Amino acid sequence: MSNFFDKRFLELEAYTPGEQPRDMKYIKLNTNESPYPPSPLVIKAMADRELCERMRLYPDPECLEVRELLAGLLKVDRDEIVLTNGSDEALSFAFMAFCEKGVIFPEISYGFYKVFAELYGLKYRQIPLKDDFTIDPDDYIGTDETVFIANPNAPTGLILSLLQIEKIVASNCDRLVVIDEAYIDFGGESALPLTRKYDNLLVVQTFSKSRSMAGARLGFACGCKDIIRDMNTLRYSTNPYNINSATLALAKATVTDNDYYMDNCKKIMETRKSFISQMKELGFEVLDSKCNFVFAKHKSLGGKEYYEELKRRGVLVRHFNTSKIADYNRITIGTDEMMDVLIEKTREILSKQK
Ligand code: PMP
Repeated sequence: MSNFFDKRFLELEAYTPGEQPRDMKYIKLNTNESPYPPSPLVIKAMADRELCERMRLYPDPECLEVRELLAGLLKVDRDEIVLTNGSDEALSFAFMAFCEKGVIFPEISYGFYKVFAELYGLKYRQIPLKDDFTIDPDDYIGTDETVFIANPNAPTGLILSLLQIEKIVASNCDRLVVIDEAYIDFGGESALPLTRKYDNLLVVQTFSKSRSMAGARLGFACGCKDIIRDMNTLRYSTNPYNINSATLALAKATVTDNDYYMDNCKKIMETRKSFISQMKELGFEVLDSKCNFVFAKHKSLGGKEYYEELKRRGVLVRHFNTSKIADYNRITIGTDEMMDVLIEKTREILSKQK
């Protein structure tokens, strides 16, 4: 640390992203990326020479074309959407903008919530999950703090119903509820339509998972026009050109080819189903996932050991060294072939253990 680092940040524990290793080629099932490539339309857009030539110019700070296309797809108004550099940036703006009275979020959830709360010097409460790792909606009913809930939750993969989400939103119209729907396309029901009914709901989604665009960094938030105006005030006060021209061009093609991505989600959900049943046969307890990952623990093999043994065999999954979930691993759903390799390596690990 330099002598110049602001004392406010001395205690800040930065977010730790999943490993992006370079030492060897892994089957990478640790950061919930899509195993499927972007659609042919996106690949064509990327190869466009004109796009490359346009890179000398700044991108459209209003992201108008993409917002319009997206608004059509989501059946909202374009002024109810703000595009962000990954959904992390949407979350960052929401923590910065709307949390004067403090924040609550589940104790086991997306690690960035705590980092943002600390970064912006906010008061925060982390609410324990129930013993079965579900979120108890009653914990968030009628509180005064801004609520952040990942739905489905990560890393558990468990989901609250739309009715439960609506109850939380409706219980106190004077505080904002932010629903982080990074994984909503893998079998969940989105709260997006509720943004037209409630002015205290902000829904955040990403192109990183279901839309094979993690590398292009695109997310968005959707809520009533006033909330989106506030988000834009912060966006224009930090980085008005937060979405680069290449990402905007790829996003246009992505939204246009929506069916391609929804088909991929179906494939991932089918793979998830057969993978879960194979894992259960091998003695794993697997939570009921509505995500492109599962959260699993074995009855006799430790979480860290399983992670390390898989890594040694060229398969990377995500292990969290946190006491309450140390027995578990979060395993991204890849293609059938990738999951077959994981199952084969797991069999090998378990047989060695006996
Ligand atoms: N929310 C959740 C729950 C996530 O797991 C992630 C991915 N790490 C994000 C938001 C952020 O994703 P991105 O910035 O790539 O949109």
